[in-house]
Parts: sequence; C-alpha cells; structure tokens
Amino acid sequence: MPLYRAPRGTQDILPEDRPYWRHVTERAHAVAALYGYEFIDTPIFEETSLFVRGVGEGTDIVDKEMYSFQDKGGDDLTLRPEFTAGVMRAYLEHGMRTRPQPVKLYSFGPIFRREKPQAGRYRQFWQFNVEAIGEMDPALDVEVMSVAWQLYEDLGFGGLSFQINSTGDPRCRPRYIEALVAYYRQHLDVLGDDDRRRLERNPLRLLDSKVPAAQPVIAAAPKITDYLCDDCAQHFARVRRYLDELDRPYAVNHRLVRGLDYYTKTVFEVYAEGIGAQNAVCGGGRYDGLIEALGGPPTPGIGFATGIERIILTMKERGIAVPGQPRPTAFVAPLGEDGKTVALKLVTDLRAAGLPALLAFGDRSLKAQLRAADRAGATYAIILGEDELAQGQAALRHMAQGTQQNVLLQDVVTFLKNDSREQ
Ligand code: ATP
Ligand code: MG
Repeated sequence: MPLYRAPRGTQDILPEDRPYWRHVTERAHAVAALYGYEFIDTPIFEETSLFVRGVGEGTDIVDKEMYSFQDKGGDDLTLRPEFTAGVMRAYLEHGMRTRPQPVKLYSFGPIFRREKPQAGRYRQFWQFNVEAIGEMDPALDVEVMSVAWQLYEDLGFGGLSFQINSTGDPRCRPRYIEALVAYYRQHLDVLGDDDRRRLERNPLRLLDSKVPAAQPVIAAAPKITDYLCDDCAQHFARVRRYLDELDRPYAVNHRLVRGLDYYTKTVFEVYAEGIGAQNAVCGGGRYDGLIEALGGPPTPGIGFATGIERIILTMKERGIAVPGQPRPTAFVAPLGEDGKTVALKLVTDLRAAGLPALLAFGDRSLKAQLRAADRAGATYAIILGEDELAQGQAALRHMAQGTQQNVLLQDVVTFLKNDSREQ
C-alpha cells in the first residue's frame, strides 16, 4: 500500500487520458471563439460570502458541499464550487458594464464540491462555463444554449435534445410556490423526511425529489408554466419559437427549476443518447437577479456549465475516438560512449528544428533500444553505431516499414524535415 493516495473524490489526470482532455478542451475553445465568447480566468478561491450570496443559502452547495477555510491571516475563503459568482464579481470589479453588452465570457477550470463520490461525481472536477451578461433578449438564451449544443455535436454525440422550462421571476414565482405547497400538503403521506424539510425550506426542490413513491405526486403537481406573468410567458414562447426555427428538438420539463430568487425565466439541460438520464452533462439558465444580489446594478445574464469528466466518461462509453498523442519523429539510439555524445548533439538539433525527438538513456543493446523506439511510436530510429560513426553517418530505420538507410550525419535534420513534411 502506498503511503499516500489522492484525496477522496479527486483524481489524477494521467498522460493516457490527455488525448481526451486535449480534444475536448480544443473543441470547447473553438466553439467559444465561433460564437464570439472571450476567455476569462478567475481565482480558484474567493471570499466565502460571495458564494453564500451568489449560489444561495438553502442550496446543497452552500449548506453542505463547500470547501471553506480560514487562511492564516483569518480571511474566510472558499474553493469555488461553481464559476458564475466569481465571473459576476469580476464583471462588476472591472466595470464591464461600460463595454458593449452583452459581455460574453467563458472559463475552464477545476471546481470543488464535497459530494459523495461515485461514477461521474467527484469532489474536484472541471467545468467549461459560459456566461452572457447584460442582455434580456431571448435570442441570447438560444445562443447560449447553442454553444452547449454545438460542443456536444462537434464531439460526436448523437441524438441531442434540450430539456427546457421557465422558472418565472420574483413577480410570478411566489404565486406558483403557494400553489405547489398547497398541493403537497395534500400529499404529505408520500413524502419522506427530506422532502418534508424541502417543503418548509425550498419547496421548488420537491420537483427534484428522487424518492420513488413521490414520483406520481410530482408528475401531477401544478406546473410553473401555468403561472407565468406575461413577461415571462412571452420570453418563454420566444425561446421555444427560436428553437423550433433552428430545428433543435426540445421537451418542456416541468421539473426543471432552480430554487433561488435570482434565477429567472429560462432553465435548460442538454440530453444526448446515453447521457443525461441520471446525470446531467450540462445545466444552465438565466439569472437576471444575481448581479443585483451581489451588490451591482440590476443586470440580466444567462449561462451554463458542463462537466469535462462526464463528457469524457460518456465518450469512452460510446467508443468515440479522439486524435492520439503526437508521436516523436525520431528515437536516437546510440551505441557506446562516443555515440552518446553525437546522439545528444543530434537530438538537440532535431528539437531545435521543431522535430519531436527522444534520446535513449542508459547503455542498452540495440535490440532493447529498437523496442523502446517502437513503444514510443517513433517514425524513425536513428542508430549511431561504431560503423556508422566511422563514416560520419547515421542509420535511419523506418519503424513501420522495417527499412533502413544510411544518411550523412549533417543531413539527418534536413532529411527528417522533408520526410515529415511529406507525411
Ligand atoms: P447534478 O444534478 O449531477 O448534481 P448539478 O445540477 O449539480 O449536477 P451544475 O451545478 O449545473 O450541476 O454543474 C454543471 C455541470 O457540472 C453538470 O452538468 C455536470 O456535468 C458537472 N458536475 C456537477 N457536479 C459534478 C461533480 N460532483 N463531479 C463531476 N461533474 C459534476
Ligand atoms: Mg449537484
């Protein structure tokens, strides 16, 4: 047993997984650029109170899942459990209201939540996070939704569809919550302890309940879409019209809500064949009251976040291939001490010319070195034996073809440059 292991719920991202991470992050950067979103990086920790306000008291995140600590100077800090609050803090701090609106930003990075670890659920995980701030237009809702959609499509997921709902706003939501609570009071017998507590603290979250016995009751619960004010109803109708126009399939899911006042109007998730059934890959929505709750002027916004590990897990499950690790052009295999000196110089020249090259270390037999070249996936092994060196040459062995030719030492770089250009 090793003395140390990675902390529970965290994982090392090993080199063999790198091709997936590189591919997914490259696609995400490309999609963000295509839609005109700019990269923003915010600190991994912020003042604890920012998240208490921005994520909200009464949420699982704030109540149970934050990694909060006092640093040695006595400041109360928290490892970010989501991006949005930090990005909104940055929007206010840097006066981004004076820029053309909407300000369209995206981020990548680790997120921390003390959850119960299981497949696809970790305590440190990565998100790709997108925010569009300062604009009410429902066309922006559909643009943000399309960023998520296009990413999954580009990654090769089929059968995409949206689940959408409106969560209303502080004008119309209270009336809905009243109706929901009244309805649940008639069905107390099927509610578990957790759900009874939710009924008191955060009734909207009852719609989220996973308790099997409660499912028929939830299915027949009042729907928020029957309670929307004109403004929210019109907004929702326009979102749906634009989605129809773009031929993006969606289903209205009355159970999709957020429990907090500053989440308003549109909420959405993306589903794909084989994902989203138990665990969402992507969650998003409007938060027109958030910036005000953080002390700024009333400013609308909409965004989403998607978990990179869950995307990669699903790609692997579905056998979606990604481009492999770039292979070295050359593996330089010297024999003897003289060969090692020449090899060190050659590998340096190859790298200076931009050709990925590896040097064999130690003092191994030619056979062992060729095996290593093969394992490294090198296109050529460059053999520097006594005979070759005596003639100022190197033997270039094409690993896949098994052919070999001698090239003058001073011509090796040019030869390989031309050769790799032809590939
Ligand atoms: P879930 O319902 O699965 O708990 P969530 O509603 O908490 O998800 P969000 O807060 O909307 O998720 O975060 C956006 C995305 O981040 C999720 O869709 C998911 O892909 C990813 N995610 C959330 N929590 C975790 C976690 N603990 N481990 C890995 N990925 C996560
Ligand atoms: Mg969660």
